[in-house]
This record gives sequence, structure tokens and C-alpha cells, in this order.
Amino acid sequence: MKTYNINPEHLRVIHQASPGIVKSVNESVVDDSSTTWENDEVQVRVPFSIAGVGTTIVLTSKFTGKIMLLDVGDGALRDLLQMGNMDFVNDIDPIALSHGHFDHIGGLYTLLGFMRMMGRTTPLNILIPKGCIQAISVIKGYREIHRATLPYTIWYHELSQGSGFDTDFFKVKSIEVEHFSLESDSGEGLLEPALGFRIGVGGTVVGYTGDTRLCSGAEAAVRDTDLAIIEATRKKAPASGHRVHLSLSEANDLGKLAKEFILIHEVPEAYLQRP
Ligand SMILES: [Zn+2]
Repeated sequence: MKTYNINPEHLRVIHQASPGIVKSVNESVVDDSSTTWENDEVQVRVPFSIAGVGTTIVLTSKFTGKIMLLDVGDGALRDLLQMGNMDFVNDIDPIALSHGHFDHIGGLYTLLGFMRMMGRTTPLNILIPKGCIQAISVIKGYREIHRATLPYTIWYHELSQGSGFDTDFFKVKSIEVEHFSLESDSGEGLLEPALGFRIGVGGTVVGYTGDTRLCSGAEAAVRDTDLAIIEATRKKAPASGHRVHLSLSEANDLGKLAKEFILIHEVPEAYLQRP
């Protein structure tokens, strides 16, 4: 059983937008600290997601065992090792990064290193928002440093609004969303290159908002999906109206556009008191 200093109790939130369609929450929860949803074609696991710490989402094709990751937060490797075997070393492809914030790509360097150490041989495709300098820096730097001894190829692909990327097992479509660089209620700030994704696995469609304020892209990422994974960072929308993230009620409303939804990326109360 996993233990974390931060109790991720609030991760275990699975909502059915259309009651009676799929599984009960109890069937879906595999252990104390993660959320899992599945149907006949795909298992979707969120081993950990807390704003400002890390978010990793693991999609596994039930027919092939192939794995796709959505974001690679700190601790992603530890969470993957909990799967109990090393197949993920070669089976992960692609990885899609929603944006370059540390809590979404912080585990990438570690995962690339582990794959090198374990002798991955299959090429790895990493999908990133166009201009995501943080991801590009990590990937390019890693390839450069290990140029002579890297047993697998790492490709990165810069995606923008409506871009597609298909493997034999995962069909990915990217949708631009609006996410500011820093948490601010003033309305000032720079928009990060940021994407939501729609992923087809067989006939199943999984949507992911990434980090976003309420915008048409967030709606497009989740509309009519079988499962929507939605950030619900803020308990309430700020009075100023300026939003870096979704509020709980906004996330719940977005979830109603999908058949089912999972809320992730909450902020523990303790973080709201800055040192
Ligand atoms: Zn972010």
C-alpha cells in the first residue's frame, strides 16, 4: 500500500454524468491512493494528481497492454513501478504533455533515465504543445547528454489546435486551452502553450482538459467523451473573475458534457497559506 504525506483522499472522485451507465466507484478504486476507470477496451488510472506536486494519468489498452501517459509528474516512475512488472519500459508510447509546468513534466527526466537504464529499444514519441520550451529543453538536453549511449529513439512532436497523432493503439487529437503561467487573480500574465487531448482507444474516447481556465477548448476536449478527466483545482472561482484554473463547480459542469468524469488536480488547503 502506498503512503504519501499528503492524503490524496480527494482524488477518489468519480462522477457519472449519466447515471446507471457504467461501474460503481467501489469497483473502480484499486487502492487507497488512486482512481481507476475502465471498460472493455481501456483502463484509465490516475495514480496521483495534486496541483503543484504532480499529475500522471496512465491509459492502458486492454487488447494489447500498450500504455499511453498523459503528463508525467514527479513520482510517475514510482507509480508505474507499482504496476508490478517492467513491461511499461517498452510499452509506453506515446507520452502526451499538456503543458510545461513542473507538476506535469517533473517526472519526465527520471522516466527517460529509467528507460535508458533498463534498455528500452522501441522509439518513444512525446507530444507537446507547440513552443513548450520546458519540455523541449528536457528532451533535447537528455538526448544530447546521452547521445552515444541511448538505446532508444526519442521523438518530440509539437502539436497545436486540431493536430492529430496516431499510433497503432492510441489516436490523439489536441485542442488548445487557456492556461496562464502563474496563479494570479489580477488578470495579468502570460498564457502557457497548453493543450487538452481527446484520445481514442478502439471505440472509446477519453478526454483530458490539462490545466485550463474555462474556455471553449476545455469544452471541446471533453464533450461527448466516454470518460473526461478534468482539472478541478480551485474550490471556488476567484471574485475577480480571472481564472488560471477551473473551479470545482466549473469542472462539474464540464463533466456533464461527458458520459462520465473524474476530477483531478485539487489543491490541498495547506498550500493556500504561503510561507
Ligand atoms: Zn499548470
